[in-house]
Amino acid sequence: MTHSKLILQLESLEQKYRVLEPDQQQRHELSKHVKKFSDGFLNQIDDVPTFINDHQLAESIAIDSEAESLATIIDTYQSQVVEKGINPASGGHIGYIPGGGIYASALADYMAAVSNEYSGVFYASPGGVAIENEVISWLKKSFEFPDSAVGNLTSGGSIANLIALTVARDKHKVKNEHVTRAVVYMSSQVHHCMNKALRIIGLEDVHHRSIRLDSNSRMDAKDLDRQIKFDKEQGLQPFLIVASAGTTDTGAIDPLDAIAKIADEHKLWFHVDAAYGGFFMLLESMKSAFAGIEKADSLVVDPHKGMFLPYGLGAVLVKDRQAVFHSHHYSANYMQDADGENSMLSPADLSPELTKHFRGLRMWLPLKLYGVEPFKACLQHKLLLTHYFRDELRSLGFDLGPEPDLSVSYFWYPCKQIEPNIFNRQLLKNIHADGRVFLSSTLIEGQYVIRMAILSFRTTVSTIRKAMKMIRQALSDTKLQLVDK
Ligand SMILES: *Cc1c(COP(=O)(O)O)cnc(C)c1O
Repeated sequence: MTHSKLILQLESLEQKYRVLEPDQQQRHELSKHVKKFSDGFLNQIDDVPTFINDHQLAESIAIDSEAESLATIIDTYQSQVVEKGINPASGGHIGYIPGGGIYASALADYMAAVSNEYSGVFYASPGGVAIENEVISWLKKSFEFPDSAVGNLTSGGSIANLIALTVARDKHKVKNEHVTRAVVYMSSQVHHCMNKALRIIGLEDVHHRSIRLDSNSRMDAKDLDRQIKFDKEQGLQPFLIVASAGTTDTGAIDPLDAIAKIADEHKLWFHVDAAYGGFFMLLESMKSAFAGIEKADSLVVDPHKGMFLPYGLGAVLVKDRQAVFHSHHYSANYMQDADGENSMLSPADLSPELTKHFRGLRMWLPLKLYGVEPFKACLQHKLLLTHYFRDELRSLGFDLGPEPDLSVSYFWYPCKQIEPNIFNRQLLKNIHADGRVFLSSTLIEGQYVIRMAILSFRTTVSTIRKAMKMIRQALSDTKLQLVDK
């Protein structure tokens, strides 16, 4: 190809992809549609159902060669995404562990995406990595971890737990021939991502010990100690204890201080999964419930739960900096410019990721903008609201699970005429068909119970009033269907 032909062809291709770089006028037009959508979404959020039990999706999601207008695409998003399933941004989401979605984080995500900061490596984005590390430092202070600890911001709790367990595995040299002798200790209430993580990192075949629970679903530390001693006598190699600070099912906080002592005595890795409950520790009144968390070797929290951020932010803290580095650092020839002398630790050295979303900004910006006080007030509010909801349910004749440690609890209707499991299953079906507020269910020792998890910043007294109206209706419908038929 001659030089001039080459230039012609380049120009023609540039014409074809020019749409990828809209000018200011076009950007303005595009953002107008998005702004209209987000205003509409937020203005109505308290008036639309939380759950729409419709999983039938339209063709309009399909990607084909035909270009569509942004308005049409947003219509598809509204009808096919927003108006189906659970609305996770709604305060009426009090099932599973709710998320949040504070607006300031959405704006931070927008800025991070527009500037496309490369926050994986200090050399590329010293400021971006400093912001990530500042968020980690704030977490270290909040959870009383030493300055020398390191951390990583992940996409969520599952990946954060995966990183911690990988470091524990490598630190304790649980390799090939040792795997079938190694032992992990957890309660049956541990989040299932722990079992997933063990399988992913090649530890599916380690011995899993399920430690007994007390009547509040907390790990029984005596049973833990007994099990470890027994396993050692058998010539096995205990190496890891996983405790929970806020279990998914009941919000229970394991006795962290007692577990820390046992871990120390037997020289085991002590990991705490505080993905759901961790941020309640910001409250002075709750600190004692978390005593011992500062003794963990590694800790996971989920800011997309307890800090009300939009989905996409978990965090792991680990005390042994060298061990995290050992498991995750890699050098390659094409990275040689980045291996500077004075550099800060880079996220790429502490996690499986290299290129990553600049997710630190979505937490850093709201903390800079508002300070921590509104977050603490919101967490305190959720604890009190849980009591309010329980009081209301009790006066409607429901039986309740034990006094919760945090904001997860459960209840059931003690129906005399119909097997309670059958009755409560139908009751939840009716609640889901209504959808004003979304609740979930679980099994507690074989008993079917309805589960509440109050954590969305949008859940207020008026949400609970709405929930009670809905539950009252569903209860009388269920009686009609099953008892008075
Ligand atoms: C939510 C949760 C997880 C998993 O975190 P994701 O952010 O969903 O990946 C792990 N442990 C506990 C206790 C949780 O509540």
